[in-house]
Amino acid sequence: MTAKLDPSDYMPYAPSEPGRTVRRHHCKGGKGKDKLYITRKEDGSIVAFCHHCHASGGTSMAVNNNLSNPRSSVGTVFSGTSKTGSNAGIFAIPSDCQGNTDKWGREALEWAEQYLTSDQINDSPLSYSDREGAIIFPFVTDTDMVMYQARYFPAREPKYMTYWNHNTDRYYDPMGGSDTLVLTEDWISAYKAVLAGYSAFPLAGSHLSRGSMGKLIARDYRRYVIALDNDNPAVRREQRRLEREFSMYAPTLVLKLTKDLKCFNLPDIQDLIE
Ligand SMILES: [Zn+2]
Repeated sequence: MTAKLDPSDYMPYAPSEPGRTVRRHHCKGGKGKDKLYITRKEDGSIVAFCHHCHASGGTSMAVNNNLSNPRSSVGTVFSGTSKTGSNAGIFAIPSDCQGNTDKWGREALEWAEQYLTSDQINDSPLSYSDREGAIIFPFVTDTDMVMYQARYFPAREPKYMTYWNHNTDRYYDPMGGSDTLVLTEDWISAYKAVLAGYSAFPLAGSHLSRGSMGKLIARDYRRYVIALDNDNPAVRREQRRLEREFSMYAPTLVLKLTKDLKCFNLPDIQDLIE
């Protein structure tokens, strides 16, 4: 995995119409699905982002359509690199991140395999940075990485460190395409809910901001499921608030869990939610 996109990966395919996104195949992951999103923004600039390997790139300003030699075009073509790399300011996960579990540290892989099989991990957007000794959890939109969380091995406190991209809104998208939305605390719990057939939104903590709630409500889900850890009094309060607010829009189920959803297998997750 790399955090760099070559301009030839996206410039020849960039849509001409502002606001439009096209999808293309980029890297091996995602079982043949087209995971590279290339968007022409309203200002005419282009952003490209691969949802599998998280490589990114784009232009800093408006460019003409479908240039065969992007480097000669108006505006600077950039490729995502690590924050400390030559393109400082472009937000990206650590540049040495590896999606393939053969390259993961033993302790990190053992931890992740408590919850996901190695095939599921390899097919997911998770990656591991050997330099950081951390698993990287991406929080994305169609066009941007909004933030990522890192979980370090050996374990540190806090368990997850959060790194925000300060060039985007602080709103990442839910995962999955179902009309039932499951709210979880952590990324893997959300991913497992998606594998079980639902849409999911990881709070990346135990609080949902007003803004994020508004964005979720606007997607018009037919049902909400709140799957936060019920053990902690502060989380229980947040759970009641979410139930009160989401139930104004659609039927809302609260799961009274004493462990994270990621600790359940997929059939058990389906049993809990149906
Ligand atoms: Zn890719």
